[in-house]
Amino acid sequence: THFGYRDVPEKEKEGLVAGVFHSVASSYDVMNDLMSMGVHRLWKRFTIELSAVRPGHAVLDIAGGTGDLARQFSRIVGDKGRVVLADINESMLRVGRDKLIDQGIVGNMEFVQANAECLPFPDNTFDCITISFGLRNVTDKDAALRSMCRVLKPGGRLLILEFSKTNNPLLTKAYDAYSFSLLPMMGKLVAGDSESYQYLAESIRMHPDQETLEGMMKDAGFVNTVYHNMTGGIVALHKGVKP
Ligand code: SAM
Repeated sequence: THFGYRDVPEKEKEGLVAGVFHSVASSYDVMNDLMSMGVHRLWKRFTIELSAVRPGHAVLDIAGGTGDLARQFSRIVGDKGRVVLADINESMLRVGRDKLIDQGIVGNMEFVQANAECLPFPDNTFDCITISFGLRNVTDKDAALRSMCRVLKPGGRLLILEFSKTNNPLLTKAYDAYSFSLLPMMGKLVAGDSESYQYLAESIRMHPDQETLEGMMKDAGFVNTVYHNMTGGIVALHKGVKP
């Protein structure tokens, strides 16, 4: 069976994405480590480094899922800081909240169910916003970028960690083979759900490339935009600043 994500009308995509993440929530962390062979931890570490988050800062991790970035931000911002882990999906949010509470990550953490397209926060609230492997799942990415710009403080940073386009044809071939055959198979074996992982592979393929995404950030109002390719461009980290 095939999701045929490309053929789904915009309106229905949101429901499809919701279904995927309800289905994968409980096995999400294990799959992340397996699928990326642990490398997602390095990509996330670099994101934290580039965030320049300091004690006392207010940070929003949107599409935060099971809380990998939020956990580290919570330690950095300390007692006087604030970290909001927001996600549209209650199952992902529940798994993330339970995990962080179990690990004693409490006090400066908040959990909010929210859609990146219309963030429920006042203007100029956050010093930093991160969205890690989340933007490709958002239906209206331009609206989401505008919404993130609105809630950032002037001078605040947006960091987007996301799958992107490799520039090496050989790597692209290997990666396609991996994501379209091995990935759904692993999804089936580990999570009992190959369709969700088929969807994930398709959503990666359809995501805007580095230059396109940088242009979208500028259109949404960001300045000083820059991106860093990682692992041959399989993943890129985009940074932008609110003027
Ligand atoms: N940030 C985490 C990480 O890097 O491991 C989780 C990434 S997970 C692949 C994508 C997350 O995006 C899911 O938890 C999903 O519920 C969330 N998501 C999808 N569409 C969203 C939207 N419109 N607004 C907020 N979150 C969304």
